[in-house]
Amino acid sequence: MKALALYIILPVATSVVGSFVYDGIKGVAVFSTLSSVLYWLWSTFVSILTLEIKLWIVFAGLLFLRILQKMRKALDERDIRNRPEWSKYTSGVLRKWLWTWRYNFQATQGIVIENLVPYCPHCACQLQAYNTLQGRYYRCPNHPLEAREQETFAEYEDPEEIRKLILHRIASGSYPRE
Ligand SMILES: [Zn+2]
Repeated sequence: MKALALYIILPVATSVVGSFVYDGIKGVAVFSTLSSVLYWLWSTFVSILTLEIKLWIVFAGLLFLRILQKMRKALDERDIRNRPEWSKYTSGVLRKWLWTWRYNFQATQGIVIENLVPYCPHCACQLQAYNTLQGRYYRCPNHPLEAREQETFAEYEDPEEIRKLILHRIASGSYPRE
């Protein structure tokens, strides 16, 4: 008896009451407009979800990305041609050691010096960094005896200072020209 009520009477009653309510609402203009708006929203939502992605759209998208990439490359190349003279200044002796570096141009920070690498001023061998309790020092792997003298703080060249010296030389125009 309970099953009968659940599976037959309840659905029938619901649909009958539902259709009465629907007919009643349909008669009122506001509700009819509202229901058509809701129906339109629902069908748009369903059509977005079931939208087929056409293969040509994928190809067109890929082509568009490729064109953007090419344009970016062309702009980068133009940038390199238009770079100022000092941008060729990427190595030199600031104090005693020989340093090499690269520039990075950033809108917020301006010129940023990156990849600062120290070299032995006598043989141009790259210096090796050592960290000790006393601090960091560098030694030329090619000149171990001379390196003993370099193991003092006085000989230590701070990359931050070197950065500032490079920027100062650029700003004052005192960097060596080729
Ligand atoms: Zn050396």
